[in-house]
Amino acid sequence: MAGLTLNHVTKRFEDVVAVDDVSMDIDDGEFLVLVGPSGCGKSTTLRMIAGLETLTEGDIDLGERSIAHAKPADRDIAMVFQSYALYPHMTVRGNMRFGLEESTDLSDEEIDARVEETAAKLDIEELLDRRPGELSGGQQQRVALGRAIVRDPAVFLMDEPLSNLDAKLRSQMRTELQRLQEELAVTTVYVTHDQTEAMTMGDRIAVLNDGELMQVGTPLECYHAPANEFVAGFIGEPSMNFFAVEREGDTLTGDGFEYPLSNDVATDLGETRRLTLGVRPEDVSFVPSADGPHDLPAVTGVVEPMGNENNVHLTFPDGSEEFVATVDGMEHVERDQHVVARVPEAAIHLFDRETGRTLR
Ligand code: ATP
Repeated sequence: MAGLTLNHVTKRFEDVVAVDDVSMDIDDGEFLVLVGPSGCGKSTTLRMIAGLETLTEGDIDLGERSIAHAKPADRDIAMVFQSYALYPHMTVRGNMRFGLEESTDLSDEEIDARVEETAAKLDIEELLDRRPGELSGGQQQRVALGRAIVRDPAVFLMDEPLSNLDAKLRSQMRTELQRLQEELAVTTVYVTHDQTEAMTMGDRIAVLNDGELMQVGTPLECYHAPANEFVAGFIGEPSMNFFAVEREGDTLTGDGFEYPLSNDVATDLGETRRLTLGVRPEDVSFVPSADGPHDLPAVTGVVEPMGNENNVHLTFPDGSEEFVATVDGMEHVERDQHVVARVPEAAIHLFDRETGRTLR
């Protein structure tokens, strides 16, 4: 077993920079989730680690050894694809045996034992003699995982492995995958565009945007201390609310509201005047009356009941800006109500509007 190190990894496809100078360490046994919007370079990064794509620049180490130019089969890495990529004409047993027969010199009996043991771990022993066409999507997914696990590799790479499953099965498999990964303690890089999957599964998350690494951190670090406006907006559901504001001394002025800052906060901002003010929907609450400078009159729009919570869409009374407050599901809120939204200063995030960098 070993950790993975990406050193200045870059991939260019003619004039497209798919992955741009990405460096990070993935610890031995760690579950790292690579997350970002469509086209940000997640799959290309994973394919370079697997050896399915060459690097334009940079290096990748597995433990002490550079694998950047090793053949895929010599990397001690197993990949699980979104499409499962099972051989349709082979049984489940055949699919699981196949990789082992190719890559090891185990005896037939040893291979059989490994396949049985892995099938038991995944609860698919009854399926061993069926073909992929005779399995449900969830079962095929387990077989695809089994085929990776049976090889006992140093690293698992997973490219959106749960995206073809329905919501309920997906959340079940999320938990199961985490349990398995913990049990096997194999270094895992997991690609998804789904921030919920990233938040719930990763020991750490690496957020990519436009081929660039925005932040690597624990889910809570990325949530509470996002490195920039992109991460702040990408992590968290519903997304953080953003307001373009101008700063004049200690006061922020936005479209339809003013927001005074305490001295301490204003000092952190240096000379920057063009800012983005961010606040998470769950940090906005309703209060009976405007008693302080951070209580903002607003009008309710669409109310989305989520059961335990309501997502309430709001505008300022002049109709400007739209933002969302997540409030208790028992709180009775109707459309077109005049309310007062409290945006506590301790909860706000401030970003440089030019660079997106977090200032506070
Ligand atoms: P998705 O979530 O949609 O799969 P992704 O984050 O995995 O996206 P990549 O598939 O890594 O993104 O693609 C990154 C960028 O590189 C995109 O702009 C894509 O169009 C481009 N790209 C990927 N593969 C190739 C290729 N073989 N030739 C040219 N451009 C490519």
